[in-house]
Amino acid sequence: MRRFEIALPTSVDECVKALSGAGVKLVAGGTDLLPQMKNGLLRPATVVDLSGVAALRALEADAKGLRVGAAVTARTLERDARVRGPYASLADSGALVGSVQVRNLATLGGNICNAAPSADMAPPLLALDAEAVIAGPKGQRRVPMLEFFTGVRKTVLGPDELLVEFAIPAPGPRSGGSYIRHTPRRELDIAVVGVASQVTLSDGVCAKARIALAAVATTPVRATAAERALEGQPLTPARIEEAARLAVEAARPISDQRGSVEFRRHLVRVLTHRTLTRALERAGA
Ligand SMILES: Cc1cc2nc3c(=O)[nH]c(=O)nc-3n(C[C@H](O)[C@H](O)[C@H](O)COP(=O)(O)OP(=O)(O)OC[C@H]3O[C@@H](n4cnc5c(N)ncnc54)[C@H](O)[C@@H]3O)c2cc1C
Repeated sequence: MRRFEIALPTSVDECVKALSGAGVKLVAGGTDLLPQMKNGLLRPATVVDLSGVAALRALEADAKGLRVGAAVTARTLERDARVRGPYASLADSGALVGSVQVRNLATLGGNICNAAPSADMAPPLLALDAEAVIAGPKGQRRVPMLEFFTGVRKTVLGPDELLVEFAIPAPGPRSGGSYIRHTPRRELDIAVVGVASQVTLSDGVCAKARIALAAVATTPVRATAAERALEGQPLTPARIEEAARLAVEAARPISDQRGSVEFRRHLVRVLTHRTLTRALERAGA
């Protein structure tokens, strides 16, 4: 690995100042960044270590929703009761990242800012209507997660901006969510397809549905036709099957060594069916 300077800020403002230089990269858990530096894909002159910025590790839940700091780890999301209940799809996804050792380092912000199409923690954030809170030299701005990703490994973040936290609205009573992915190996593998579903029930019908897919396009995507087919309807097995079929329309997968287009489309249907069924159970149906 090439030599680099290390900066150790203790506040978000200090991070923003440190980002004003040339060739600067942020590091949270380092589980994406360090392999990229070792492979020579990235050669930063300065690495800004976020581990001393307490504000980035905030995790606060109230009646309005959940605030999750960018540096909260996958392991915390997997285990924290405030996440596992109402935001179960996020806890599901955290529990699937790497191994326990990786999850103790890997952060939610790192997973999202690395912007791999297969990132496991992205679909739950889309399905939960989360917003990213971003800090830069001009202050803070909020971006809906649906607009955050702009391409493979590309996001709306400017070079002088950092992700501070995610604001997730409370799903409300009679809501449930689920994230499931398919991998050929049980652990330490990348999603061939991942699906997050989120439903809210009211008066015997589905008041709100969200379905988000990973690893089937250049960015995580919402399956909006499938969502529309569910909203205002009772969630019968036939409706769920129809939504699973419609979710395939949102997928634009490629064939690669880990799966063909046809296999990925099949997985979208199967995993949408499974996540909707589990979300419905968790909503107390
Ligand atoms: C063995 C192994 C297994 C893995 N398994 C999985 C898996 O199953 N599923 C999965 O999705 N991923 C997996 N990953 C990838 C990785 O662990 C995750 O993406 C992880 O969440 C990245 O978080 P991090 O804190 O380590 O990010 P880092 O490596 O620290 O950073 C990643 C990128 O995000 C940027 N960044 C970090 N924090 C911020 C911030 N606050 N604001 C702006 N930019 C920021 C960094 O500059 C860098 O470009 C695996 C990695 C390894 C090594």
